[in-house]
Amino acid sequence: MNYLALLVFIFVLPALVGCGPKQDLGQLCTGYDGESSEKPIGINGLSVEADMLSAHINGSLNSKYILPFNEGSSFKVTQENCSSDSHTGKQRYAYDFKMAIGTPVLAIREGVVTSVVENHKDHNGCENGENYIYIEHSDGTIGAYVHLTKDGALVKKSDIISQGQNIGLSGNTGCSTGAHLHLIVWTNKDKNNSVPILFSNIKNTNSSKLKKGTIAEAKKNKPTVIIPPLFP
Ligand SMILES: [Zn+2]
Repeated sequence: MNYLALLVFIFVLPALVGCGPKQDLGQLCTGYDGESSEKPIGINGLSVEADMLSAHINGSLNSKYILPFNEGSSFKVTQENCSSDSHTGKQRYAYDFKMAIGTPVLAIREGVVTSVVENHKDHNGCENGENYIYIEHSDGTIGAYVHLTKDGALVKKSDIISQGQNIGLSGNTGCSTGAHLHLIVWTNKDKNNSVPILFSNIKNTNSSKLKKGTIAEAKKNKPTVIIPPLFP
């Protein structure tokens, strides 16, 4: 490969392929800090870091996932990926969104409901269980929506879910220090690792990395139609 071809390969090709906004790789966890010494495997049989890199190269606009709340609304990220608080090890690619109890939770991707728990009361504490909904996606990954409120599931096992469907109501059950949604995508049913994800409908795309403190806003899918007032 001559010098010019090399330049094209390094600079022009990525610009053509990566049509999304410039991505920040800051979210990529460095090293594996889980309990297991085994190297985690991502959904493509590569490391989860390789999956993350691939997600970033594709750009958040091409992500299979959307934010788990209504378009036009925004919520604060109270715990990011790779955080030392509790998003470590297998859970490292989880996000926490601060949400008042009873906030509608939307499916980030289409799939089939594999598990629903909704019997726990809010503020029940760590020693007691948490409410959650699991949705299996077509590639075998599992979207988990955790700490939902009592009787907060709007779906049941085996239901087929479309992306953006209101599946439940957020809460504060189980190991939770305040009302929030813990969102994580597991690589498979065994939950032996989490998948790094981005969201296609983030309004403030500079914040696609969703660091702690970011206010994530879900874009409106359709432009607002302004109806002119009618005069007699
Ligand atoms: Zn969390």
